[in-house]
This record gives sequence, C-alpha cells and structure tokens, in this order.
Amino acid sequence: MKLAIICIGDELLKGSTLNTNLAYMGSRLLEAGIQPVFSAEVPDSSEGIMHALEQAFKHADWVITSGGLGPTADDVTKEYIARFLGYRLEENGDVAVSIVQYWKERHDGDEMPTRVLNQSLVPENADVLRNRFGTAPGLVIRTGEDHPRFPNKNVVMLPGPPGELEPMFSASVLPLLKKEAEPRIYSKCFLVCGTGESDVEERMLPIIDRNPGLSTAYCASAQYVKLFLKSASCDALGKAMREVKSVFGHELLSDRVESLPEEVLRLLRENGDTLATAESCTGGLIAKMITDIPGASDVYLGSVVSYANTIKESMLGVESKTLADHGAVSPETAREMVQGIARRFQVSAAVATTGIAGPDGGTPEKPVGLVYAGIVYHDRCEVFELHLHRSRQQIRDRAACEVLNRLRLMILGKL
Ligand code: AMP
Ligand code: MG
Repeated sequence: MKLAIICIGDELLKGSTLNTNLAYMGSRLLEAGIQPVFSAEVPDSSEGIMHALEQAFKHADWVITSGGLGPTADDVTKEYIARFLGYRLEENGDVAVSIVQYWKERHDGDEMPTRVLNQSLVPENADVLRNRFGTAPGLVIRTGEDHPRFPNKNVVMLPGPPGELEPMFSASVLPLLKKEAEPRIYSKCFLVCGTGESDVEERMLPIIDRNPGLSTAYCASAQYVKLFLKSASCDALGKAMREVKSVFGHELLSDRVESLPEEVLRLLRENGDTLATAESCTGGLIAKMITDIPGASDVYLGSVVSYANTIKESMLGVESKTLADHGAVSPETAREMVQGIARRFQVSAAVATTGIAGPDGGTPEKPVGLVYAGIVYHDRCEVFELHLHRSRQQIRDRAACEVLNRLRLMILGKL
C-alpha cells in the first residue's frame, strides 16, 4: 500500500492553524507500520485540491484528505474530489437522519440551518464513516478497476477539526488501512524515558545487526523517545522486542500507558501513594501534565506555584536564612520546598522545582538552564541538579519531564 495525505484549508497556508492533523495521522500510521509517501497542504480551492489529488495519485493508491467537509461555502472538498473523479453527489438518507439527530441533541429546540444538511450529500458509491463528534461524515471512495482515469484508487475524506478527525481516524480509518496493508507488517512502539534520540539509536545498532529485516524509526519529544520497530514476521518482531526490553529495562514505560505522567500516576496508585507539587520555574507545568490525565484526582492532591520567595517561605516553610544564604535557585531551597509541600499536603510523594528558565537572569555561577529538582518519596528526599538547554519553553518542559522521570525511577527503586 502506498499512502498520501492532503490537508485542505486556507487557514493552514496562512499559518493561523497549525497542521496537527498531519502530525497525528503520521504518527498513528507509523505505529501501524505504514509510512506515507507524499503529503500536501492546499487551500480550499478547486485548483489546489485537484492538483494535489493528481500529484498524490502519481505516488499513492490511498489518499487521505482532511478539512473542507463542513456546511459552509468554503467547504468544497467533496464537491471537487467527486467532480475530479467523475462522480455525482447524491442525498444519503441515513446521513441526513443522523445529522438532524446530532443537531437536536445539542441545540435545545433551535431550528437547524438548512445548509447543515448539505453534509448529507455524498459522492455516489461512497462509504460513509460515522462522526460521533460532529455533523460532517467521513467519506471513502474506491474507484475500482473500471475507472477510466484513476483505476484502483482510494480516497478517504475526513473533517478538519482534530476533535472529530482523531477519533474517526482511530475507530474507522486505521482498521481499514491495516486490513488493506499487504503484506502484513507487525509493529511495536516503545517509549524510552530519560535519554536522547541518538543514544537510543546507538544502543539499537547491535539489535538491528542481529535482526535482519527489522526496521526502526525514532521520534523524540520532551517526555520520551518513541522507538518504533517494524517487521514482516511476527516471531522476528517478538525476538527484537525481547532484546529491546533487556537493553533498555526500566528506561521503558510500561505497555499500559501512553505518557510519562500517566506512568507516574499508575505507579503511585499501585503503591497507594499520594502526590503534591511545589513549582517555581515550571510554574504549574507539572501540575498541568498530571491533571491532563483523566482520573488523576485519586492520587494527586494539588500544587503550590511558589514563584515569589515570600510564598516559598509562607506556604512551604522555606527558611528566610536559606534563601538569603543560598538563593532561591539552590539545592538547599529545593530540599526545603519539597519537604515543605510534602508536610503541608501530607503526601507520600512530592516534587519541587526551582531554576533559571531564561532567557535572562543567568550568572556564571548559576547559568540559564540550571534547575534544582527536589523529590520526596516516603522517607527519602533527594535533590537533583539539572543542566538544561535551549529556549525558556524547552527548559521548562524538560525540567518537568526530568522531575517526573526521576520520581518514576525512585518509585521503582532504580534511583
Ligand atoms: P473543516 O470545516 O473540516 O475544513 O475544518 C474546520 C476546522 O478544523 C478549521 O477551522 C481548523 O480549526 C481545523 N483544522 C482544519 N484542518 C486542520 C489541520 N490540518 N490541522 C489542525 N486543525 C485543522
Ligand atoms: Mg475548512
């Protein structure tokens, strides 16, 4: 299978909307062992859409489009794609019924504008993909072998809003593509925490050498490096997975989670622990990462964003002498902050951060990127000195992730 992605929308080319749909679909496809061969971003115009489709068909037999399926005049994707392929649009009764019902459930008696029903016009022979979070259905056109210009091509059209596209892609499109992808590719994605992409790649080299036919890909983010394995053989993939587990050990997040904060919460929950945070330079980022996970409240009690020294003293009990003698960015302050929050919130686990996120405020002794992280886990209290780099945002993101990863390792008894 060769697959292309076309993202449609004026806003993508103006830069007012970031094309997260491409990133989302690209990463989900990679997990399924499918790597797109072509992508394009085009405006909501007939030339843009038709030209991109023509190009995509040169490279691929499957094309996924995002955007332009709404009810407004600028949403022209299905009209132009149907026209390009020579198909008529026809009313689909089932779609019309579900649109009316979706509207009724959400609009408390308001009359539905007639243009909303435009979305029930679908290209003849198209299959409809259910949209649980909006009115525009997804559409699948398969040209078949008799098509005069484009035989055996497949076009999947998805709505632009990520909140609609992502669940539809997961529930309907990925299973469809996996069924089509021949020969079958077996794949696995590991999340490696606490190290960089090039280190992961280097440590993978012997495994790659020992496993011919195994292909690997890497994708780094602040939380972890995603390590993708692909193989045409299920047994070969299983063998490579065992080798990865033995090389990376506790650096890998468990198979049950998709993120570092989720793993930390899972471990704390398993051990009957509770957690609180005291954040200076990360300003609540750790609290945000943790509360992004649904159900965090059974473990996570809350946070003090102690940006000012007066708050470090009054809320966390940091001694004024400590601040005067060592400064706010010091191991001594980090230790008193984390002990203070653990005491005040009566928790078995706590983290605290204090550091210089920049771009200004650094000195030769305390440069930008210097962060102290305090961690309490039961009767242990540790302070770590971190030296982080790049922008303010990257320093803060990395600091939050480093702290959570060290807490994870302390819970596991690996640090
Ligand atoms: P649609 O009506 O299907 O064209 O999509 C409407 C909204 O979805 C746009 O206003 C954007 O906010 C969002 N959207 C469209 N395309 C993308 C994309 N490629 N990535 C992220 N958001 C998008
Ligand atoms: Mg649009």
